[in-house]
Amino acid sequence: MSKVFCPLPWIGLSTRSTGDLRVCCQSDSSDPKGSLLKDNGQKFNIAIDGLKTFRNSKVLKEIRKVILSGESPKICSRCVKEEAAGFNSNRIHMIEDMAEEFSLQDAVNMTSEDGSIDENNVPIKYADLRLGNLCNLKCRMCGPTDSSAWYDDYVKLFNNDIIIDNSGNKIKIITNFNEKATLDTDIYNWHENSQFWKNLEDHIPDLKHIFIIGGEPLLIDNHYSFLEKCISSGHADQIYIEIMSNITSIPKKAWDLWKHFKLIQISPSIDSIGDLHNYIRYPSKWSQIENNLSKLVTAKGNFRIVISPTIMVLNLLHLPELMLWKFEKFPNTKLNSHLLHGPVHYNIKIFPPISKIFITNYFEECKIEYKNRIMNTKRGEVNYNFFCKELNKATSFMNSEDWSSNIPEFFRLTNILDSIRNQKFEIVSPITYRLLLGKHI
Ligand code: SF4
Repeated sequence: MSKVFCPLPWIGLSTRSTGDLRVCCQSDSSDPKGSLLKDNGQKFNIAIDGLKTFRNSKVLKEIRKVILSGESPKICSRCVKEEAAGFNSNRIHMIEDMAEEFSLQDAVNMTSEDGSIDENNVPIKYADLRLGNLCNLKCRMCGPTDSSAWYDDYVKLFNNDIIIDNSGNKIKIITNFNEKATLDTDIYNWHENSQFWKNLEDHIPDLKHIFIIGGEPLLIDNHYSFLEKCISSGHADQIYIEIMSNITSIPKKAWDLWKHFKLIQISPSIDSIGDLHNYIRYPSKWSQIENNLSKLVTAKGNFRIVISPTIMVLNLLHLPELMLWKFEKFPNTKLNSHLLHGPVHYNIKIFPPISKIFITNYFEECKIEYKNRIMNTKRGEVNYNFFCKELNKATSFMNSEDWSSNIPEFFRLTNILDSIRNQKFEIVSPITYRLLLGKHI
């Protein structure tokens, strides 16, 4: 496999929650240059500019040229870092996913010297749609641009009603007495633009994989109408739909539509089990999450369930228990963990060096302690190897840099948010709390 090729700069479409177009989800906040810009410096926005003109934007042409010269573009640094830590990066996932659709050789054959492509010959096959910020949860690592439920807490937490989002927009939160806070802009409602959905419908015959994410995408009504169009046009059985959801609630219409598609992958965002999950993905109810997960696992249709924890400071120590729970209770699911890169104070690199030694040793002990139980699960040996690999990858990423200077900021923000939400991190994960203080058990 090529060490630098990625099909996304050729056949991908990726939006931010404002509808602004970017290179891909991995290039989101690591580098503002990931935004696709017009010649006049303005951002391409999917609801305003449609689905054609961005494809030969300066950034994409440059990235294609760099990749074809055998180098890795700077914008792809997250994938490079994840691969170095032993994770399967998004680049590797996309190469595998699009193996039959678009290869390095196709890229060589279909790219002009200046990096441009003929968009009719190289159609969009992968769409990554971040449908605004409407959400019913306010997860710890998110903020107002990820979740509309976050507005009030953000103002209290930062004593500030101004947000600068990933696209560089300056946005004001309007707090209303006795009413829910709102924003002074509707840029996150771009998915209500009917012309965008009409434009996307034209691409249905070419689309192979659609990744839908929010906010909480199952709350967005317009996307159900689009799924209906995929079905009525006779293409649903060629399309793989992937949905990242908090699975707090799954509407009946979703079940009715999903069964028509080639493959439905639901990636429940489950970071830990029980109270810690409720703490991180506030205000989730764990019993509801487990119940909906059981329904998904037993649903009729071509479903693939990929539990998708985000590994961060809050849950790292509980990763062994999460994997054990999955092996024992939900053996027919997969698990694909994501490393949190930001906010920095939740990145696992912030643990004090002395605690990193403890965590590394603790994970070694878990490999011994949990071995028999894991070996007794369905596909025991495969699970055990996966378990060891995941723990190794997490420790290798954690130990790669010392970011412990961010610990005071972790405690400052966690303590304020705890008091706003009437929670206590010290209670839901005493072990992590002590390790962050550099104390051992
Ligand atoms: S290599 Fe990674 S960062 Fe670069 S375009 Fe592909 S998925 Fe995105």
